Amino acid sequence: MENTSSNFIRNIIISDLESGKTKEVITRFPPEPNGYLHIGHAKSIILNFGLADEFHGRTNLRFDDTNPLKEDAEYVTAIQEDVKWLGYEWDGLFFASDYFDTMYEKAVLLIQKGLAYVDDLSADEIRTYRGTLTEPGKESPYRNRSVEENFALFEAMKNGKFQDGEKVLRAKVDMASPNINLRDPVIYRIAHVPHHNTGDKWCIYPMYTFAHPLEDAIEGVTHSICTLEFEDQRPFYDWVIANCEMPNVPRQYEFGRLNLTHTVMSKRKLKQLVDEGYVDGWDDPRMPTISGLRRRGYTPEAIIAFFKEIGVSKTSGVVDSAMLEHFIREDLKMKAPRSMAVIDPLKVVIINYPKDQIEMLEADNNPENEKMGIRQIPFGREIYIEREDFMEEPPKKYHRLYPGNEVRLRHAYFIKCEEIIKDENGKIIEIHCTYDPETKSGSGFNARKVKATLHWVEASQAVLAEFHLYNPLILDDEEENEDSHFLDHVNPEALTIKHGFVEENLKQVKPQEKFQFLRHGYFNVDPKHHSENRLVFNRIVSLKSSFKL
Ligand code: ATP
Ligand code: MG
Repeated sequence: MENTSSNFIRNIIISDLESGKTKEVITRFPPEPNGYLHIGHAKSIILNFGLADEFHGRTNLRFDDTNPLKEDAEYVTAIQEDVKWLGYEWDGLFFASDYFDTMYEKAVLLIQKGLAYVDDLSADEIRTYRGTLTEPGKESPYRNRSVEENFALFEAMKNGKFQDGEKVLRAKVDMASPNINLRDPVIYRIAHVPHHNTGDKWCIYPMYTFAHPLEDAIEGVTHSICTLEFEDQRPFYDWVIANCEMPNVPRQYEFGRLNLTHTVMSKRKLKQLVDEGYVDGWDDPRMPTISGLRRRGYTPEAIIAFFKEIGVSKTSGVVDSAMLEHFIREDLKMKAPRSMAVIDPLKVVIINYPKDQIEMLEADNNPENEKMGIRQIPFGREIYIEREDFMEEPPKKYHRLYPGNEVRLRHAYFIKCEEIIKDENGKIIEIHCTYDPETKSGSGFNARKVKATLHWVEASQAVLAEFHLYNPLILDDEEENEDSHFLDHVNPEALTIKHGFVEENLKQVKPQEKFQFLRHGYFNVDPKHHSENRLVFNRIVSLKSSFKL
């Protein structure tokens, strides 16, 4: 993913290739299909695919679908779409559930070797027997069942002879190990639940910590990259590979997960936001999901550049979401055409401009990127400006429009405020101005100085548009994995909808087209709500930031 030493996994791979320990780098991205991918997963995707690409290896997309209770085919489809959108192509597409037969055989092998036993203790009892960090665990009374008995019971578990929770299969490792993960972890449990892939074939399912190393070994994965919380699982990972006599020996490496300010980063929490109606689906532009970021208007290029900057380390920290915003601004600066949009319109009538006349003015599409050319925009007697760009009684240092003041209209003329028109309730309904024909933009006119330049849209041809403006989804930051009520911190003002106008030439925009609206920021045409009669622009990010790299 990058060429700096801050990626310590890359350095390990280089040394493995040099020493001949690894012939070909094989990685995998192993999501559980229990939700949509979020920006944290992008770190893992970029790392796994990026490293294999760099060293001409291979990467599998593997669905870790060993828990049918939470998994769904909808997520399988969405995850593939997100990985592709980020720009990666997998070599193999696999499902952990495709290996259920092998996993079962390996469990039987452990039983035959006296390294696994069927336990009748309840989940609560197992927890109590496990001990604590300071006390050793206690052996289950069922720990010393004979191989024959274990085999017969495990077979009966498979054949549906027991209820959920009645029995489990445990690895026989060491109840006194200082590493609690080695105190006879459960490796198979009973769940009478149909599986999205295997249907009713199984009523016992392998546990993640048993299944994962086998999946890696079956696929010949060389470097199994996971997040830091699995570090203490590594001894059991190696135990499974060795005792199940797997021909390939993958190695597990851990890196720090991504956390971002002002959001939550776990599928479980994100699912709750969706299920309880806090957001409009997994792809809501407020969500930190890949699909949400895409709909908001983020680009894969911006996301990849962001991860290059933060690098890969062995510690997880919290990254300021302003940093992610910085990278989308950078990416769109040269790419997105500039245009004018009035989000909160106020009508201005230019009383000395000829009635029924429309003239076309030239406007550059991106002054920072001349290749983007110029467009023609209409100008006429009636225009819209931003309501906040006018004040009847301006405070000091307010240089925009107010009675008697002159401002520049971007790409057009100077106008001067002559009169305010109000309705019977005293609400301002329009402003009357005069314009100076000598001051046309590009005419070289330079005689007077004005202190403000306003954006505007010609009224008769302006196109109605909806603007969706966003604030952070979560007001306070939550500790990951802490079960505090993050829902209490959901920002009720994370979405504001405004109705205004865009330039006439934006009538035909397509979903996902991106623009910079002068002074307002970068916007994306919403793919979900957009139609011929409804233009919806999602604000990706505003123009200004105090963030410094
Ligand atoms: P979640 O709690 O959000 O469901 P998970 O780790 O359970 O996360 P998986 O579907 O198991 O999600 O993740 C697939 C891969 O993505 C794993 O290798 C996991 O370590 C990695 N991953 C998940 N979240 C992050 C994150 N915040 N930062 C970096 N990598 C992550
Ligand atoms: Mg998970």
